Amino acid sequence: MAYQTKNPFIGEVQRTFEYVPDTILQEKLKLADTTQRDWKTESFKTRAKLLLNVADILTLNLKEYAELITIEMGKPISQSLGEINKCAWLCKYYAEKGPSFLQDRCVESTAEVSQVSYDPLGVVFAVMPWNFPFWQVFRFIVPAVMAGNGGLLKHASNVPQCALAIESIFIKAGFPIGLFQNLFASHKQVEDVIASPIVKAVTLTGSNEAGSKIAALAGKYIKKTVLELGGSDPFIVFDDADLNHALELAVLSKFLNAGQSCIAAKRFILHEDIADEFISNFVALIENFIVGDPLNKNTFLGPMVNDNAVSEIEKQVQETLIMGGKCLVGGKRDDNIENMYLPTLITNVPIDSPLWQDEIFGPVAAIQIFSSDNDALNLANDTKFGLGASVWTADMDRANFFAEKLETGTVAINNMVKSEPGLPFGGVKDSGHGRELSDYGMYEFMNIKTVSYS
Ligand code: NAP
Repeated sequence: MAYQTKNPFIGEVQRTFEYVPDTILQEKLKLADTTQRDWKTESFKTRAKLLLNVADILTLNLKEYAELITIEMGKPISQSLGEINKCAWLCKYYAEKGPSFLQDRCVESTAEVSQVSYDPLGVVFAVMPWNFPFWQVFRFIVPAVMAGNGGLLKHASNVPQCALAIESIFIKAGFPIGLFQNLFASHKQVEDVIASPIVKAVTLTGSNEAGSKIAALAGKYIKKTVLELGGSDPFIVFDDADLNHALELAVLSKFLNAGQSCIAAKRFILHEDIADEFISNFVALIENFIVGDPLNKNTFLGPMVNDNAVSEIEKQVQETLIMGGKCLVGGKRDDNIENMYLPTLITNVPIDSPLWQDEIFGPVAAIQIFSSDNDALNLANDTKFGLGASVWTADMDRANFFAEKLETGTVAINNMVKSEPGLPFGGVKDSGHGRELSDYGMYEFMNIKTVSYS
């Protein structure tokens, strides 16, 4: 299937794009190579200035780009606006901090003088998902170009117009043509790109299945990888927590983007003394959601991305209910709205059920109750994933204990897990490896070069 825009709320194919012909793909690769070789000689000042131009273009055309996200993948417009603003923030962050991250630094050694310098690796190839169709791409390309790298993008096949828009933003901002290129590549052509000697590294954000396939190809052709994969983040609430605040962020963490986020809270782990109160208030909040047309500025919960995604959630919920889960609200499709799964809360979730063991990529909250700190920790770590975790308590000794023991890339105390430019982002276990954002994200695609003088 070629690339196409199929509006999830209307259920109609609006635009289709053919795969890039092989000959043009090879020309694009060559252009990427020559452009990046020139680009890496540009001053930090020029690179930063162009990133600030990108931020301005995003801000000036905020509504247009946000609507594109909403039309292609169904995110409520208020959240799409937030996504574009966050991309502008990222550009400003790397424009300001990038030059200092890239300074040479002296290190102690047995030589007279030793230093570490940061050379760009070259052209980085990114395979990206649809769920944050601007933010995910910006997370890779902004630090890459600031560091002197170039980028090639294979975006998810359902967000082609977002891919084209991002490519044109970089050209309008003054980046040389060829430095960042969109490729409407087929899965077969993805191997051709990874195999090319022009491509020096591969970054994938997406499912574990895709991650495994792309990482195998990258291994075959000896290319550096960063993998940002699935998650099943726990949201642990103790009896001493600020329950109102925890509830407010539980709703956002679980239901933003219809739960289609790698760092959405997926497993709620509640202390037995507050569980009843938390659950009944959670149900009341869910029943008041404004659900429906994602282009309506008041909508909080829009459709899921497509029918396959709804069917997958239906299956996970049905299997979990058969195994003993208890549905308190939702638990089915909304037959009147295209691709809409009702916001759902399920308690008594067996730990061997799909809702506990697999990634729930939709508006379904799974709940377990605990009585001791060790129970909570074991429940939280009982997953193959290790992306983020949120812990709610007033006791800082307990908070520190959980920060140390949770097997995740991020631990948020008294907050939801979220990404922002200055914080390293990534996972452990089956959630992937490597980091994005901050100085760590930038160094993933650098030749960290040691120079010693004796
Ligand atoms: P996906 O199906 O794995 O797709 C991601 C990208 O991989 C798309 O561009 C897709 O292209 C491509 N792809 C899939 N199979 C491929 C193959 N065999 N060969 C080459 N390319 C292939 O994931 P998704 O449904 O878009 O995104 C949801 C997943 O991403 C969830 O698991 C979520 O947790 C994860 N995610 C993780 C993070 C993080 O930072 N850890 C952030 C966001 C999302 P096509 O569209 O053409 O198939």
